[in-house]
Amino acid sequence: MKTENVDVLVIGAGPSGAVAASILHKNGIKVKVVEKQKFPRFVIGESLIPRVMDHFDEAGFIEGVLEKNFEKKFGARFLRGEEVCNFDFSQKFSEGWDWTWQLPRAEFDKTLTDILESRGVDIEFETGVENVEFHGTDSITTVVNAEGTKQIHAKFIIDSSGYGRVLPRLLDLDAPSVLDPMAAIFVHVNDKNRPEGVEGTQITFDVLSQKNWFWVIPFSDGVSSLGLVSPKEFLESIETDDLTETFHNIINQSDYYKERFKGAEFLFEPKKIVSYSAAVKKLYGPGFTLTGNSAEFLDPVFSSGVCFATESGALSAKLAIRQLRGETVDWETEYEQYIMYGVNVFRSYVKTWYTGELQKLFFHPEVNEDVRRKICAVLAGYVWDKENPFVAKHDRAVQAIAHVLI
Ligand code: FAD
Repeated sequence: MKTENVDVLVIGAGPSGAVAASILHKNGIKVKVVEKQKFPRFVIGESLIPRVMDHFDEAGFIEGVLEKNFEKKFGARFLRGEEVCNFDFSQKFSEGWDWTWQLPRAEFDKTLTDILESRGVDIEFETGVENVEFHGTDSITTVVNAEGTKQIHAKFIIDSSGYGRVLPRLLDLDAPSVLDPMAAIFVHVNDKNRPEGVEGTQITFDVLSQKNWFWVIPFSDGVSSLGLVSPKEFLESIETDDLTETFHNIINQSDYYKERFKGAEFLFEPKKIVSYSAAVKKLYGPGFTLTGNSAEFLDPVFSSGVCFATESGALSAKLAIRQLRGETVDWETEYEQYIMYGVNVFRSYVKTWYTGELQKLFFHPEVNEDVRRKICAVLAGYVWDKENPFVAKHDRAVQAIAHVLI
């Protein structure tokens, strides 16, 4: 059987794998990426948050992505009937980027892999991992593609396989999510009634009821992404045999958007993902880390998915470089505890969103600017800034304020 030797094998070429591979390559590490699909490929996760820009900057991606003229995102708007809550990232409490992008992931992820390939990073598409055997920290990975089967020997594996969850499945690392099972249905539309100016390009989350919300993410090419997130049972209760009809009915539930998207042309049949939250028992082991969706995924409500994907991809790469250079890495504190701190902050916000406490705070007229700035920093992804009491006391801050608001 054909064999290859690399320092680091990255499984999956989504944003997590791409950021990891770029940092490794820049540091002279022999890295190979194997990706099961042919790019461009569809994946959901189109609204980014500013913290990702730190990782794209470190990976050297900003300039190449700017050339694509993706829609810039400067904040987010939440609607609930007549109530409006705007967050402007330039007003956030923490230091950091004030903007990011909202974009079709197929084109974006392809942009990142094109940049990597232009720099000489070895990416093998349409090549899926079938099995991994560990011998201490060394590993032998069996991959399959149209040419057959081969083995890749690596000193370290970064598993960025997203919903594929390669190592969690092979090593029995999956754990149940503590969040209630939710579902999402989404589509891309030709946004031909898009108004001029900010209204046309603003990313919006329309709260239809406490647990059901509708997203509108306009892209720079005139296409918009629309989606509904709801408890699994609710989606099942409104679903008909025809998902296109189901989705037109959903659009009709949004008083704010129903006219804009009435009869809109769908660019594919609406797609559905049910019970998407995922967790793992461990984020690392001898010779590997789990990053991005291969590790933890919470909920789409605050667009944190790609941010964790790139944060964990970048950190895995930097720690793996140190280990390969002979340094001792404390994976428990330097990787798992660090990443889980941010995950836990966001988890508190996701939970209090669905209990209605955070929504109360978002839409309450008496919530002052200082509180909004601190919450804005969390929504921008600066969830490791412990100077922010809405980070440091994430498990209590929202509830404490919601409790005193009438
Ligand atoms: P991915 O982008 O999924 O990439 C993983 C890659 O691994 C894929 O290309 C796959 O083909 C490859 N792979 C899988 N198995 C194998 C294998 N065996 N061998 C080789 N390669 C393999 N996040 C946001 O930030 N913003 C949002 O607005 C947002 N909206 C969401 C809405 C919904 C309904 C859901 C469910 C999620 C949303 N997310 C969002 C989360 C987002 O989709 C993910 O967090 C993000 O794509 C994770 O990136 P990744 O690089 O970890 O994985």
